[in-house]
Amino acid sequence: MSPCFLQVAVPSPLQRVFDYRAPADWGADRLQPGVRVRVPFGRGEQVGVVLAVRDRSEVPAAKLKTAHALLDDIPVLPPDLLALVQWASRYYHYPIGEALATALPVLLRRGHQGRIAGVKEWRLTEAGRAVAADHLKRAPRQLALLQQLRRHPAGLPREALEANAATLRALVDKGWVEERERPCLEAVPASPEPAPELNAGQAGAVAAVTARLGGYGAFLLEGVTGSGKTEVYMQLIAACLEQGRQALVLVPEIGLTPQLVARFRGRFTRPLAVLHSGLNDRERLCAWQSAAAGEAAVVIGTRSAVFTPLPRLGLVLVDEEHDASLKQQEGFRYSARDLAVWRAHREAVPVVLGTATPSLESLYNVAQGRYARLHLPERTGSARPPRVGLLDIRRQPMDSPLAPALQAAMERHLAAGGQVLLFLNRRGFAPTLLCHECGWLADCPRCDAHMTLHQRAARLRCHHCGHERALPHQCPGCGSPDLLALGKGTERIEEYLAARFPDQETIRIDRDTTRRKGALEARLAQATEGVARILVGTQMLAKGHHFPQVSLVAILDADQGLFSNDFRAAERLAQLIVQVAGRAGRADRAGEVLIQTHHPEHPLLQQLVLQGYGAFAEAALAERQAAGFPPFASLALLRAEASGREPALAFLEEARDAARALGQAGVQFWGPVPAPMERRAGRYRAQLLLQAPERGALQQLLDPWVLQLEQLKSARKVRWSLDVDPVDTL
Ligand code: ADP
Ligand code: ZN
Ligand code: ZN
Repeated sequence: MSPCFLQVAVPSPLQRVFDYRAPADWGADRLQPGVRVRVPFGRGEQVGVVLAVRDRSEVPAAKLKTAHALLDDIPVLPPDLLALVQWASRYYHYPIGEALATALPVLLRRGHQGRIAGVKEWRLTEAGRAVAADHLKRAPRQLALLQQLRRHPAGLPREALEANAATLRALVDKGWVEERERPCLEAVPASPEPAPELNAGQAGAVAAVTARLGGYGAFLLEGVTGSGKTEVYMQLIAACLEQGRQALVLVPEIGLTPQLVARFRGRFTRPLAVLHSGLNDRERLCAWQSAAAGEAAVVIGTRSAVFTPLPRLGLVLVDEEHDASLKQQEGFRYSARDLAVWRAHREAVPVVLGTATPSLESLYNVAQGRYARLHLPERTGSARPPRVGLLDIRRQPMDSPLAPALQAAMERHLAAGGQVLLFLNRRGFAPTLLCHECGWLADCPRCDAHMTLHQRAARLRCHHCGHERALPHQCPGCGSPDLLALGKGTERIEEYLAARFPDQETIRIDRDTTRRKGALEARLAQATEGVARILVGTQMLAKGHHFPQVSLVAILDADQGLFSNDFRAAERLAQLIVQVAGRAGRADRAGEVLIQTHHPEHPLLQQLVLQGYGAFAEAALAERQAAGFPPFASLALLRAEASGREPALAFLEEARDAARALGQAGVQFWGPVPAPMERRAGRYRAQLLLQAPERGALQQLLDPWVLQLEQLKSARKVRWSLDVDPVDTL
């Protein structure tokens, strides 16, 4: 038998693959692209993925090492997915080994072999469920655990239990708590929820996409919040499942999934797998394997779910396609939306991008004829679009974060039995602390940023680097005790509400109140059921959720996004406002939206309020065209950070000169300049922007350039990264 060589992608920052000799006894038939191998690498060992099997290698025989172990009989990544990751690695200029490592579940990356049967969970036994609380009066920790498990009758994995080993042991010994293995896929409902009859718009959308099942077609499903997009998704999935195929659904954030997942679960009699960042490694692999084995008929997941193997893929859906979090912002900076479209094209299945506020990119693709637009112009049932008003807060009394007119509106809506949602995209009590005596500000020692005041925790925390310290009682500068909380965050609003509306139950939903596993679900449930009358929160509250009783939505500070340097800031703000506003009046209540601003005359706000998102988007597209920005041009951002300003800028200058020397026409360079927040976590950051009217020209430059960057002398002193199609240039 002729010798056998493997081209292996090994996690490494180098833009290349590595050749290995395959031991003779491995058998050529087992060796195929997509299987994992354990190989010697540097001084240690790595798990890599075989990209190609060859009968010769350009590497001199003396330098070739032999692979140690073959981990798979069948590829962990089937050919279509391997092609997807390889394409993405080239397009985003990210090393293939690292790209594959991102695409694979952690356990596979580490070399795990074999199927995982289920995930271990702890839950109450029947005896445990029957225990009266006063039984455990003397053992508050055990009681707390018991109550936690009561709130989660289906069980919780070990790391989610708020208990130490002794507490858990004690309850197990009493026979009240037990461990069980939950199968990867949950049981499907015996009698699924019936599907409603579609309205004309929905029916048209479903018909248009189902007509294309079995081949590629890209659709933008544009429908205002509450227009029934999710219902369209479900009926499309049903049609896909009927053909015996699998469906892939991508959602931007974990916060969006609980309600969506519950709706999907109730509807389908085929199993559904959920993939999101809240899973532990076993849960993730479990879900991944059930999808790869074809057992999960529907996979719902965040970004990286786009890499899930689905042997019978029939349909791809991307919900909230405009959402920036579909783009990974570190490491492998891929756009899950764009890869979803690529994958659908390659695997010849329809892809539907749904949203109430389409990205300008997708609108442009519609205009270019690349996507078909499906429009749901109206809310379903009796729900009407909300009334939107701007609240001018100039010269308003400063003693309350809520304008008197907003307070009056809240009273009206609460009295009428409605729920009120207050949106503020800033968690914590106040953005910073100020000394009234000397002007000292609580700045982060490691960032060009203020530290956020967290009153209840009595801490100052930097939201950029995580640095924290105890809340000082005196000014570190002058010793004065006269410290003022400057500005407002959700925690402060919550405190204010408790004093102003003492009889109304208030619930706060932000990253601080939802850290614990299950906390978000619990709070969303309280919000949905209407237990809490006033909801206050950050963007976690803004998207995707359906709160039937909310009739008033207020955006407490629309000014944050009005004057940003980022070219996408206006688009972001418009989308956020429309999404938040969409939480109002979703069922039979008339909705009202109030936007607090110091700039009521701002054209963006005026356009949105008077003419709506479509008009805004049209104007924004015209501006982008005039400025030569995406979608009318392609961008790449080279970022560098170093221990000082100089090395970062020096590297970028050398990089820019190297790029110029390549002589690629049609690419412009902007910078290098220090990043808008230059210092972060003690590192100095700078950036160089590349702009090209043609995507092809940019890619032609990037290919050779990235290889040169690795070699630049100045590269040794910096950490750099390339961001192709950056979602922000900050
Ligand atoms: P979106 O995803 O666009 O926000 P949903 O699909 O969640 O909209 O629909 C909003 C509400 O209207 C939901 O409560 C949903 O159950 C209901 N709904 C959707 N389509 C129909 C329909 N054809 N008939 C009756 N109710 C519907
Ligand atoms: Zn002071
Ligand atoms: Zn910091």
